[in-house]
Amino acid sequence: MSAYPVAATARIDLHAHSTASDGTLTPAELVRAAADTGLDVLAITDHDTTAGWEPAVRALPPGLTLVRGAELSCRWYGVEPSVPLHLLAYLFDPAEPELAAELTRVRAAREVRAERTVELLRADGVDVSWPEVLAGAAGGTVGRPHIAQALIRAGLVATTTEAFGPAWLGERYRLPKEDIDVFRAVRLVRAAGGVPVFAHPRATRRGRIVPDRLIVELAGAGLAGLEADHEDHSPAERAHVRALAAELGLLVTGSSDFHGTHKTVRLGAFTTDVEAYERIVAAATGVTPVAST
Ligand code: AMP
Ligand code: FE
Ligand code: FE
Ligand code: ZN
Repeated sequence: MSAYPVAATARIDLHAHSTASDGTLTPAELVRAAADTGLDVLAITDHDTTAGWEPAVRALPPGLTLVRGAELSCRWYGVEPSVPLHLLAYLFDPAEPELAAELTRVRAAREVRAERTVELLRADGVDVSWPEVLAGAAGGTVGRPHIAQALIRAGLVATTTEAFGPAWLGERYRLPKEDIDVFRAVRLVRAAGGVPVFAHPRATRRGRIVPDRLIVELAGAGLAGLEADHEDHSPAERAHVRALAAELGLLVTGSSDFHGTHKTVRLGAFTTDVEAYERIVAAATGVTPVAST
């Protein structure tokens, strides 16, 4: 029995972004929107930061349970060129020094990368500016969606999707990030009492993906689960992820990866089973879920 029980019919969304990274709702607006849409459990999973945790907890509406998490920018160095990937980390201790230092390092590297991207655009005569992009991120983790917004404001593209096309941030003006080695990330999340889940592992429409043999190795290294139900997975990809998880004894999640108006997906568009949620809570020793009383 979990110390944080939820109803068998609970609606659980374990992946959402706020203005602490590249979402467009503040952490307070995000938890209110989650409650308004009828969710029982929401995880806040901003890129490489826990800055949204406190404001989300303070604004937590009655009836909503908050899972504190993050989405870590990782990389698999087992092939050349290396492959970037995202690791969701739930309920870890944010004060664990080694993990906290990695997050600080990645956020700083993201700023350098975004500024360089803006310089490349400007060298080609594109009218965007670094102060404008930085202001758009409003103190949150800087990402390509913030540059995409500057391209939209400058009238160069109409949508975020277009900004992520090959002519812009998807390829021509895409610079690599200085991500965390994925094996190190899994180890650090576990050492901080957290539960690591591989985000959208088969999202071929986003770019290159890793082979199943890496997921097998990560399972051996402490990976707890795989995100199967996600808008970037086709039905066949979702089924493949479920089968792989069953084979490896990993838990399976589904989630919206909500980003406010930076994406079209709605909160709760995909959800996680109560059983998988309870496995995450049971495995965590960093921080607990929070429910408002
Ligand atoms: P970054 O972390 O700076 O490399 O930017 C990646 C982020 O951009 C992801 O977390 C998504 O929020 C967003 N993103 C990636 N691909 C797309 C896309 N095709 N359309 C809209 N947003 C995207
Ligand atoms: Fe994002
Ligand atoms: Fe992601
Ligand atoms: Zn995400």
